[in-house]
This record gives sequence, C-alpha cells and structure tokens, in this order.
Amino acid sequence: MAQSIYRPGTFVWLVDKEQRWLSGEVKSFAVAEDGRAAITVKNEQGEETTVKGASKDAGAEEGGLPPLQNTAEFRTINDLTRLPHLNEPSILEVIRNRFSDRCLYTYSGIVLIAVNPFADTTSYYAPDVIRSYIGRSREELDPHLFAVAEEAFSTMERTGKAQSIIVSGESGSGKTESAKYIMRYLASVHGHESTGGSSGSSSIEQQILATNPILEAFGNAKTARNDNSSRFGKYIQILFDDHQRIVGARMRTYLLERSRLTFQQPLEGNYHIFYQLCSGASENDRHNLGLDDATTDFRYLGGMPPQPTQAPYTHDFSATCDALEVVGIGEEKRQAIFQLLAGLLHVGNIEIRSKRDTKDATMDEDDVALLRAAALLGIDAKGFAKCTTAKQIDARGEIFSAARTVAQAIGVRDGVAQYIYSCLFDWLAVRVNSSLLSDTEHLEATFIAVLDIYGFEHFEKNSFEQFCINYANEKLQQQFLSHVFKLDQAEYVEEGIPWNAIDFPDNQPCINLIEGKIGVISLLDEESRLAAGTDTSFVDKLNGQLKMPQNKRIFKDHLHGKTAFKIAHYAGDVSYSVDGFLEKNRGTVPEEHLVLLTDTTNAFLLEVIQTGRASVDERTTTQLSKQDPNAGDAPRRGANRKPTQSSVFKSSLVLLMDTLDRTDVHYIRCIKPNEDKQPWKFQSGHVLDQLRACGVLETVKISRAGYPSRMPYEEFAARYSLLLPRHVTRPYLRDPQRLTTVILQRTIGTGDKYHNGRTKIFLRARTLPVLEGIRTEK
Ligand code: ATP
Ligand code: MG
Repeated sequence: MAQSIYRPGTFVWLVDKEQRWLSGEVKSFAVAEDGRAAITVKNEQGEETTVKGASKDAGAEEGGLPPLQNTAEFRTINDLTRLPHLNEPSILEVIRNRFSDRCLYTYSGIVLIAVNPFADTTSYYAPDVIRSYIGRSREELDPHLFAVAEEAFSTMERTGKAQSIIVSGESGSGKTESAKYIMRYLASVHGHESTGGSSGSSSIEQQILATNPILEAFGNAKTARNDNSSRFGKYIQILFDDHQRIVGARMRTYLLERSRLTFQQPLEGNYHIFYQLCSGASENDRHNLGLDDATTDFRYLGGMPPQPTQAPYTHDFSATCDALEVVGIGEEKRQAIFQLLAGLLHVGNIEIRSKRDTKDATMDEDDVALLRAAALLGIDAKGFAKCTTAKQIDARGEIFSAARTVAQAIGVRDGVAQYIYSCLFDWLAVRVNSSLLSDTEHLEATFIAVLDIYGFEHFEKNSFEQFCINYANEKLQQQFLSHVFKLDQAEYVEEGIPWNAIDFPDNQPCINLIEGKIGVISLLDEESRLAAGTDTSFVDKLNGQLKMPQNKRIFKDHLHGKTAFKIAHYAGDVSYSVDGFLEKNRGTVPEEHLVLLTDTTNAFLLEVIQTGRASVDERTTTQLSKQDPNAGDAPRRGANRKPTQSSVFKSSLVLLMDTLDRTDVHYIRCIKPNEDKQPWKFQSGHVLDQLRACGVLETVKISRAGYPSRMPYEEFAARYSLLLPRHVTRPYLRDPQRLTTVILQRTIGTGDKYHNGRTKIFLRARTLPVLEGIRTEK
C-alpha cells in the first residue's frame, strides 16, 4: 500500500530541526532489509535523505513516513475537511496561503478559523459585505463571521431552537473583536428599524451594542499580550420574538481577574476605567474625588501610571459615559460609580508600616489616603484601620485582638478593594441586564448567544486564574468533542454506515481530576476553609490524595512538588504554582470588614455589596434564577461555608454547559499569527501550537479513526473515473454509485477501506491518498 502512495514525484512534508514543515519530493521507494519501507526524498535545497517507515506498509498516520502534500488546486481551499491529505502541515499551508491572499477566514468542517491580521480591516465588515451575507447559506460565499451569524440565525428561524456561537482563542487572537462583529451583524440585520420610542429612549439594539464599551472599560486592561485584554468571560444572549426580531438580551460574566485591581506586572495596566476617569473627568470632579494632585502616584496604577488628560482615555471616558447613559445609568449613578472608583484608588495609597521594633502592622489614623478613602466610601476610617491591622479572634466567647504583620495587613487592604471592585462589576452586569430585558414576557424567548471566553493559557508561571481558565477550556473541549462526535455519528446513521464505537479522545479523566468528589477543587475548598490551611498544606494534600492509578497520566509528578503541581491538559502539560491559591480562592474579606462595609453611609456602596453577594448566591445555585437577583437580600451563609471562587466558577460552568447543551453550537477559533502584533505577519510554529490548543488538529485525529473522507457518489465518479479505461466506466456513467464501486474495486480492492453510504462513499484514512496518487500518474 505504502508503495502505491509514495511514488517517485510525489510531494511530501519533511520536518526540520525547528519543527517547521518543509517541502520534499519522493525520489524512490524501497523495502529495506529489515522489512521496513524506505523512501528517498529530496528537500528544497536539493539534498537527498532516506526516511524509514514503521513497517513495509505503514503510512504517515502510523508514524515514520512523511505526510503527503495536496495538489495545487487544494492549497487555498476554503474548507480544510475537503483536503484529500488531511495532515498538520497541509492544514497549516492552507491557512497560511489564504492569509497571504488576505483571506482571514477558513472553515474546518463546522469550525470557522479566524486569523487576526492586526491591520485595518474596515472593508471586511462594511455594510455592503453585511448585506451580501443576508439570507445566504454558508456554502454560497467565502467563509466569514457573518456567514456563521447568518447560519445561526437561519437555523433558529427554521427550527425555533436557541443557538450559541463559541468564540475561543488565546489572548490577543481577536475573540472580542469577532464577537462584536457578530453582535453588530445581528443587530443591524435582524434588529428593528426604529431607533427608539417617542420618549427618546435608546433602541434595544443600541443598548445591546452599548454593553461592549461598558464591559471593556470595567473588565478590560492592557496586558503584555493585548492592549485591550478582556479579563473576564462573557456569554451574551440576544433574544428574538416569533417574528425573529430582537426583543432583548441578557448576559452572564465569568471570573473577573480581581488581582489586577491591586497589582499589575510592569508595562501592564489596571482596568481601563481608572485611566479614563483620571484623564477624562471634569476638573471639578477630579478635584472633588482627590484625583487631581495624586494622579501620577496611585499605587494601584503602578504598572502603568496614567498621563492626565491623555487623549485616547479622555475620548474613551466620554464613550463609556454615553454607553452607560444608553443602558439607563444616568448622571447621578455615574457620579456614584466614579466616587467608588476614586475611593478604591485612595485605599491603595493607605500606608501600612510596622510598629517600632516589631513586625506588627500599623496605620496612621490621620493618613490623608485613609481619610479620603473612608470619606468617599462612607466607612469609618478608624474602624478600617483597626480591623485591617489586627484581627479579632473569638475564643469560646472571648474576643481577642491579634496583630497582623505588614504583609498580612496589606493583603487585607487589597482584598477589600478587590472585593468592592468585583461587586461593582457584578452590579453593572445586573443593571445592564435589567435594562436589556425590561419586559418579563420575553424571558423564555429564543436566542442567539455569543460566548467570548479566554482560551487555554500556558505561561511561564501559572496561577489560580490559569487553573480556572484551563478548567473552563477542558469543559468546552469536552462539549466540542462530543458535539463533533455526535454529528459524525448522526451522519453515519443517516447514511446507513455501521457504527462501531470509534475511539475518540476523551478528556473526562482530566475533568474528574479537577472537579470530582476528590479532586483539585474540592481539596482546595477544604483547605481554604481551614483557618490553618496554607498553599503548602494544599499541595501536600493534592500529592497525598490524587496520586492514584487512574490519575497517573494526568496528575504528574512535579519537580517542585512542594510549591507546584502539574496537570496534563488536552492541549498540553501545565504546571501551576500554588503561591496565592488559597487567598485567591477564598476571595472574600474578613467578617469585620463585611460589617464595616455594610454599615456604610454611602448608599451606592451598600447596593453594590448586596448585589455582589446576591450574584454569588445566584451562581452557586444550580438553576439560573429567573428572578431579578437584586430583589431582596441574599441568605447569609455561615462564616465557614462562604462560597469560594472556584466553587462559584464551577457552578457557573455547570450552568453554562447546561445552557450550551440545549442550544445548537457554532464554533469560531481565533488565531494570533504572531507574538508582536505585526500586521499580516504569519509565524507557522506559533499558529500550529494554537491549532493544537483549540482542538482543530484534535478533530482531524478523531476523523482519522472513522471514515475521514466522504464524497457524494457523483463527485467521486466525476473525479476518479479517469483511473479506469473508458470502456470499463462507460456502462456505468448513468449510475454514479455503481461506478464508484467499480472504480474502488479495481483500484483499492475489497475489504474495509471504504463503505457505501446512502448518498455518499465513505473512505478510510489512507484510501484517498492512494486514489490521488494514481490520479496524478494518469
Ligand atoms: P483577550 O483574550 O486578551 O481578551 P481577544 O482574543 O479578545 O484577547 P481582541 O481584543 O479581540 O483579542 O483583539 C486584539 C487586537 O487585535 C484588537 O485590539 C485589534 O487591534 C486586533 N484585531 C482583532 N481582530 C481583528 C480584526 N478582525 N481585524 C483587525 N484587527 C483585529
Ligand atoms: Mg477579549
């Protein structure tokens, strides 16, 4: 078999030292003395090398012999699954060729691959492009975000079923931009014509689009990878009535990165809104909020101090204010928000020193930052100083005060600020939701949702955030695999192909390791609830309890077993440094601070705290409450049963998966073609890593397990009838199915290499290459 594929003149892919793929041409084929196939290949430099296969008949899939190249006509094909030779280098070649032809989008079966050009692409999304996609099926036009949006819409229209579009990819790959184009497409094509009622209120489409600048101001920040990086996940549902008109929307947000509020790496920034406020607020406001004299000195803006009245921020500030107005957050509420934000900046500037000759923390009660923060937040300055520098211990009814160290007190100070900010973020989401869905009659309306969620992350140092993000990606990967698998299965059944359980990669063991009864999250929670729990005792617990035979391949030994643990994810191994895990997981503030905050004279802060608590409660209940989470105070939980960050996240993921399962899902995988954000630059190795991480290559592998190539009989007969002499094919020209069988019998023979379906021929992985090989010879 291998001999009929690797004929002289066949083009193959050779891997070089840097793991890049280079072109090679087969010169000769031989069977070596040890019985293995040996082919001699000439590379691009004209040098000849001999490559040996695993056996006489082994092909590229079994390892050994090089993968085959496709003929020129396939090298810019717009759907990867139609490649006769479906292998990594060929996939990469198509995406690269298309990108250099300025095509950003390529299908891989049901997935749309989108490569970020880092260049001006206004013309790609212009109104005439939008118009051209309306009412057209996916096959009719070039791959595009709009084609996916239109497909979701037409499926919803036809079936009445809700749709979800999952946009994933690494930081800076273009998820948020893509999600916005999809939302704009739906709003402009399927929205109401009117721009608002007679009261002058904004149209629902305007309100939906206004969520973007709001969420970006409060949830995006400059990072090393992306100047406008989303530090949270978002699932927004656009609701449609029976006439397929937009009637509202609702959204859920996931896991805002809290630590960014109080610390950023050099050259990274805090949430955009702080810079917008410092630069864009009126002089009077800046003065009243204490932002005028200390602007360059806020500790929380340390990574990237703002320049006052910096043009883009000033402009963005007014855009944020306009968007808030559109969703009904008026001038007065905005002032209350800004007061809170300024309060947080001052909290960061509160000095905490050690008491003379001790390690105990102390604060000056007349510290200007403390007084300003307390005044803006409406809390008691002395009380804040007292409970931040010392903790109250209840020993069988007797209350003791125990001093905190400076580091601990700083941790508490920053924790309070993070807590308030995350409550504010939740408050915004709740407010925006109540504006987007004012009419309860639409609660059950069908929807098209867009999920813009962080892709798999693997940095030099990975912490709690990466752990949660990668856990989310494991769940999404599982959803994706089972979807692809089910679709495949459905086609087999429809075509009458016998369905033998195909071995597809299953990441359930990894998910069990993370969320199982005795898993990383449950052990983390257990440890977080112990007063004496530390990051080290947590990692000891993991090593003690998770090293069982079923976890052997996924929970790996770590060189730094005391400070880190390693999980084998579907997209690669990741080591997590446990430093800070427990604190981040607890994610709440000491009880005394909660009391202090709820005693505030600032009515808005109280509202924000209550909303934040209610949101957490809502997320930890399994069913999404249909009621306004803002209604009524949340039930108080015992101090030891406070929901942890990871358990809140786990519940919200369970809910998300549940929702996704009840919708038809469409997939967009965004790819960042280079690290330095250069326009139109394509780095192959970098792209390949992402194709691997986002599951595109994995699905190629799955399809190999079954019948990866399928072709309607007509198409097959038309392409391959020239393999046989005319007098043989002539009698069957009117019967493509029969002709297909004759061609296959005479070229491939009988056996398990292909199977007849109802309308298509199903071919095993190595059948098509043989046919293509013979065809090239002809
Ligand atoms: P993160 O995970 O950090 O939030 P992301 O995947 O959401 O990243 P985006 O913020 O959408 O990434 O994109 C990063 C930048 O890439 C954008 O600010 C923009 O400059 C550029 N970009 C993204 N998509 C496009 C596009 N379709 N055309 C032109 N430029 C784009
Ligand atoms: Mg983003």
